[in-house]
Amino acid sequence: SAAVIDRGSHPVSRRNISSAAIKVLYRIKNHGHLAYLAGGGVRDLLLNRTPKDFDIATDATPEELRAMFNNSRIIGRRFRLVHVLFRGEIIEVSTFRAGVRAEDAEQHSDHAFRTEDGVIVRDNVWGTAAQDALRRDFTVNALFYNIADFSIIDYVGGLEDIDRRTIRVIGDPTDRFTEDPVRMIRAIRFAATLGFDIEETARRSIGELGETMQAASPARLYEEVRKLFLCGNGERVFELLSELDFIEPLFPELGEWLKDPEGEAGVHWIRNTFRQLDRWVAAGLKVDTPLMFALLFGAYHERRAETLCREESLSPAAALQQATHDHILQLGERIAIPKNDRARIARIMALQPRFRKTTPSRVHKLERNPQFLDAWLYFKFAAKTFDRDGKEVTFWEKRHRGEGG
Ligand code: ATP
Ligand code: MG
Repeated sequence: SAAVIDRGSHPVSRRNISSAAIKVLYRIKNHGHLAYLAGGGVRDLLLNRTPKDFDIATDATPEELRAMFNNSRIIGRRFRLVHVLFRGEIIEVSTFRAGVRAEDAEQHSDHAFRTEDGVIVRDNVWGTAAQDALRRDFTVNALFYNIADFSIIDYVGGLEDIDRRTIRVIGDPTDRFTEDPVRMIRAIRFAATLGFDIEETARRSIGELGETMQAASPARLYEEVRKLFLCGNGERVFELLSELDFIEPLFPELGEWLKDPEGEAGVHWIRNTFRQLDRWVAAGLKVDTPLMFALLFGAYHERRAETLCREESLSPAAALQQATHDHILQLGERIAIPKNDRARIARIMALQPRFRKTTPSRVHKLERNPQFLDAWLYFKFAAKTFDRDGKEVTFWEKRHRGEGG
């Protein structure tokens, strides 16, 4: 059963909802359907934060919605949604659905899949508003704002958890995390961005379920890892990852390295990486994923390169390329980093030794490299983090002062 909080008793105001979302909500309502603002939008409005986007949930089917909006299209194979297009804004509208076990959904990217009894059902199992709330991940993400009377509808105790500043899983944390391991990363991201705590049983589950990360879909892992690192509070993310012993499940090689006796330099490097990412995000700069990954793993690549240098008697430059290449290949098996991005990470690393050569012709050649700016940002960061100074750092600083924040 739901708690309904009327307009007088909560702070969500239509004024803070985009006019496009308001239009869509009213049109759906005027066609006789339920029209709720849902998910992160409601959560952020309650917390007085600016929502990234406004998602709508309704009992109208995608076909019915398609008929209501000329400027709309149905998207998605697994779960069909409707995008209503406005100039500069897309409003996502989804039909209430019941929870489909994530592992079933994961394994069948087609429209239909076979259940245990061999019955073929559609992936889109429509449901009620209550079921739609219960299939969501965390209580704070499952609130509805009803345009018909401006009330908030709470099926899961989400309002209380907003007051307590708690990320609480809907249902049993172990079940819900096992069903979809990516939710563990999301819990950490929301805790970090919102400044919330993760509820105790969920924390314990995350501590115990690291292994299940291996079953996560590489494509979704890529998306969620990016959002996690660029959420704007990376320092807190790193704290939580350390507390919950969750670095190894995400990045086994890195986690192992941070734990070994000389891992302190690694911790220093990673913490600085997160600080740097946070500064860029705060400055409103778009951080390219290859640079993000290069910074995250760079010291580890350099470390492995030293070993290769010794053991395989490779040149330092060749060893660094080899170490980077090997690790990216390993990483790529679990996280779907696009091929082009992998090549760019490798190039950022491969260019590093060339900052040691400061003859005019070498300098011009390096500066004309399409990857120069990222490589320079990496070089500058590494010099600062490891207190490397020397004439090359000063030389490049003079030429490129103030670039890239
Ligand atoms: P953000 O501000 O990052 O967009 P959000 O809460 O809107 O946060 P989305 O990833 O955009 O997060 O997802 C929208 C909503 O869909 C969530 O609020 C949640 O209710 C639901 N949701 C998303 N991912 C999952 C998941 N893995 N399991 C269950 N529910 C999910
Ligand atoms: Mg969202």
